Amino acid sequence: MKYVLAIVGVVLLVVGIAGAVVSYSNVTAAALNAAAVCINNPISAECFSATAAINSAWTTVILFALLGVVGFIVMIVGLVMDASKGAAAPAPGMAPMAMAPPSAAPTATCPRCGRPARWVPQYQRWFCDAENAYV
Ligand SMILES: [Zn+2]
Repeated sequence: MKYVLAIVGVVLLVVGIAGAVVSYSNVTAAALNAAAVCINNPISAECFSATAAINSAWTTVILFALLGVVGFIVMIVGLVMDASKGAAAPAPGMAPMAMAPPSAAPTATCPRCGRPARWVPQYQRWFCDAENAYV
């Protein structure tokens, strides 16, 4: 299932760009038509509907552009997800650490009482001596 999301994103992106380009030609056509209709009578119903046609053509362009943006985001998310999947593959002998390793932080404080906590490598947990309990 590698790169499925990225491929879907690319398809949406291409469809969005192509749709926006194609429908933009409708905008220019509608604008030319409106200019021809409105030059004689700017307050006629024909001029009004011709102007409205420009707006609806623009709406189509914007919808395709949004589809392209969504496709772009889906593509990036798909690429990042696949990349992080590859990076998250555990290296042999390396255990994930919930808290800071003891070498990096030999001392820590207990989140309950605030006193120093001690790392117990045997159980891979922090131990609070004051409370005699694992943190
Ligand atoms: Zn404590």
